[in-house]
Order: sequence, then structure tokens, then C-alpha cells
Amino acid sequence: MTDRLDRALGAYYGLALGDALGMPTQVMSREEVVRVYGTLTGFEPARPDNPVSAGMPAGSVTDDTDQAVIVGRLLDEGRGRIDPLRLAHELLDWEKEMKAKGSFDLLGPSTKAALDAVARGVPTQEAGKHGTTNGAAMRVTPVGIAFAVDPLDTFLDHVVESCQVTHDTGIGIAGAAAVAAAVSTGVGGGSLDDAVTVAVTAARAGAQRGHWVAGADIASRIEWAWDLALGLPEAEALDRIVALVGTSVASQESVPAAFAVLAVAGGDPWRAALLASNLGGDSDTIGAIAGAVAGSVTGLSGLPPEAVRTLRTVNSLELEPLTARLLTLR
Ligand SMILES: [Mg+2]
Repeated sequence: MTDRLDRALGAYYGLALGDALGMPTQVMSREEVVRVYGTLTGFEPARPDNPVSAGMPAGSVTDDTDQAVIVGRLLDEGRGRIDPLRLAHELLDWEKEMKAKGSFDLLGPSTKAALDAVARGVPTQEAGKHGTTNGAAMRVTPVGIAFAVDPLDTFLDHVVESCQVTHDTGIGIAGAAAVAAAVSTGVGGGSLDDAVTVAVTAARAGAQRGHWVAGADIASRIEWAWDLALGLPEAEALDRIVALVGTSVASQESVPAAFAVLAVAGGDPWRAALLASNLGGDSDTIGAIAGAVAGSVTGLSGLPPEAVRTLRTVNSLELEPLTARLLTLR
């Protein structure tokens, strides 16, 4: 396997790893996570009272992985272009399928509102003008696999195509740009430090795209969250991330939280994903982002093989063919 393919697979499977480890603790408070699980040390099934992931067995991925696969498939089918209306319909079809399966893991708030608007006939350029939550950042990893981050303006055009219909705001795009740029840097052979540096630059530039919405600056908060968490013992880091960075679905909280987790874990995908799972809040998305970035740097060979086997078996996940096709766009 080439180093580039290994890193690209590391990003995609790293996303799935963080998603599945965080699945049981999503929408729980950190106190509740500690009370119920103590410290999570591996895949756990969801408890029946979890309002989003009830019924999911240990190792199950959620909307983060499902939607990142949809974006990847559309990029592949469109030879690098994503038609916003097609993306809207694919996401709506996905939700219909989830509902039919009795799942409570449905579309997030920005995506839901935007797609309802599209269904009402609002043009795709208008539908996403209020979307600031992390749905674009959670599904953008395939853009980072398929495209080099340089030149940044062209790269951001691709990021925007994957965001616009649901998250056409400076905040939504900045969060997605940070994640995509970090993954692209890792896939391109960069170190974790390189990935974080480029993520900050891309978030800063991405914040200039889309509709302006009031909210804290994601680039500055990534730098701040990284410094805040770096070098802290794990339990203290988790408490600080919850109290100060925040673990909500807001992009300006969960995206910096993922980078803070990466700082504590020293870029180790398994550690980073586990730390995220112990946060609670939007733990699956924070884990998915941290896992994708870490995996893009370490490659698939940096993920525990047993965990990857679990992800493949539980979810019938087979990301190799799609990942190889995405790399042909690069
Ligand atoms: Mg999720």
C-alpha cells in the first residue's frame, strides 16, 4: 500500500473510529459519562435511554460516518464536483432510511432546517444561510482526501461545495475548512503540527466565505484550545475542554474541542477518539473529527487493527474502493 493510500484510509477509518467510540456517550453530560462508564476504554453499546443512539450495538457508526460516505460517493460520481441539490436529496433519502429503520440518529439542526427549506422550494444558495453547527465539518473528510490544500482558494471552493446547501455561513465553512485542510495536509504527508497550522490558516480564510453570522472565530479558538489542553493530564484536560472549549454541536465549540483532544493525545488516533468519547456532549462528532485528522497523519497502520475489524464487521464498512477512487481526483 502506498503511504498516501494508507493515510487516506487512516483518515476515513479514523473518522469512523471516533464516531463509533463516541456513539454511546453523545448527548450525555461529562458527569453522567463518569457516573455510568467511569472511563470508557473501548467500544460500548448505547444505553436504552440514550435519546439518539438507543439500540445501537458496540462499534456502530452514526450520521457522521454515513454522511461522510455520501459526500465521498458524490465527489467520486461527480468527478470532484458536488451538485448541492443532489446532496440535499441524498441527505433527505438517508434520513428517510434511518427513520424506516426506527433510528433516532437523524439530521442535525442546520441540515434539517436547510433541507426543509430546499423541499419548500428555497434556492440552494439561500437554504444554508443560517447553518452554523458542525454538520459540514463532520462530513467533509473526503474533500480533504480528494484535494490538495494548495492552492487554498481552489481547495476552499471544494469545501464550500460540500457545505453550501446546509452550512453557507462563515462559521460553518470555517469549521469544515479546518477539518478538510488538516486531513488534506495529513494525507499529503504532513505531521500533526503541519495539519494544525494549515487548519488554522484554512479556517481563517474559510470564515470569509458564505453569509456572515455572529459567533466566535474558529481559527482563533482552535489555536487557543490547542494551547489550553496541551500537556494537561487527561482527566484535567477533559474537564477543561468541557468547561471552557465546549462540546455542543456549535462549530465554534466542537471543532476546537477536537483539536484540543488531538493535543492531549499527541495525535494518536485511538487515544484521541477515546478522549472524545469520554467528553460527552457531541462526543461522536468530536471523536470523528479528531480521529480523521489523527488517522490522516498516522495512516491506517496507526489505528488498532482489532478496532478497524470491529468497525468493518459491525457496520459492513468497506471504505477501500471509495478511498482509492477519491485519491485519483487528487
Ligand atoms: Mg453522530
